[in-house]
Amino acid sequence: MTLPLAFLACTGKDTKPGGNVATPTATPAQTPSTSRLMIDAERAFEHVRKQVEFGPRPAGSAELARTREYLVSELKSYGLNVTLDEWQATTPVGERRMANVTAELPGESGDLILLTSHYDTKLFKEFRFVGANDGASSTGTLLEMARAMAGAGQKPRFTYRFIFFDGEEAFCEEWEECRNPDGPDNTYGSRRYVQQLREKKELERVRAMICLDMIGYKNLRLGRDEDMSTRWLIDEVWQTAQDLGYGNQFVDEIEGVGGDDHEPFLKAGIEALDIIQLSTYEYWHKPEDTLDKISPQSLKIVGDVVLASLPRIEQRLLAKSARPAS
Ligand SMILES: [Zn+2]
Repeated sequence: MTLPLAFLACTGKDTKPGGNVATPTATPAQTPSTSRLMIDAERAFEHVRKQVEFGPRPAGSAELARTREYLVSELKSYGLNVTLDEWQATTPVGERRMANVTAELPGESGDLILLTSHYDTKLFKEFRFVGANDGASSTGTLLEMARAMAGAGQKPRFTYRFIFFDGEEAFCEEWEECRNPDGPDNTYGSRRYVQQLREKKELERVRAMICLDMIGYKNLRLGRDEDMSTRWLIDEVWQTAQDLGYGNQFVDEIEGVGGDDHEPFLKAGIEALDIIQLSTYEYWHKPEDTLDKISPQSLKIVGDVVLASLPRIEQRLLAKSARPAS
């Protein structure tokens, strides 16, 4: 994603109120502990550690291929149907092999809710970039969400897809610096995914898309992407966070994103939400985006909030929908 210029001036030092630790200060207000799905913080963190251990993971690299094998084997071990979509992408640095990984959890309805993360890291030649937050945090959390949902022992109302996009990052330094004959130099995997949905005439089945990106910082502070994301999706997730006592982490502030994997979906008319800490993550696209910036508790807060918001999102979709669930 791109950092809007307005934020460049004001990132850096801790001027923001409550750049606080990702520990819930309030007691969770409404915790129906009987049925609420939750993720395991340590498992999620272990997935992040593992990815960082593989090294820098730009699209087309052997390190990303190893990461992909890891994702596929984990997802299969949860009993999910996993598909791999490989292709050759034309990029400003030449042809690159890319692959999206999708795991599907069938629901009562064939209508789809997509939960997504990019798993590539940005290519830097000047320094070693392992993307602990940018790439690994959301990917590890999404894996753990997939495990929790698959193990719930009960068919969800909607069919869920856990999608791990390749090639989110631009190869050129800036997000919109370069273009290719077939499109921008970013969001390669998500644009391809939308194109395939269109070709298969499946766009209509997709009812909502949630994109996780940079959600593991120990000083977790997630603002609302109001410029692009669908308003009611933001509201449901942020309200859920409030209800669970995470109002200090899901804050009532605007987060500028500029572009991310949700954009191609929005352009195709799909309601979509990006959950991202960009403007207050000072190590974004820096060599210091390393494992020590990540807190297992932050991963858990985001995973738990999104899982807890899904029933509410489903309710909204069911209420909106005049057409019978297919
Ligand atoms: Zn990035």
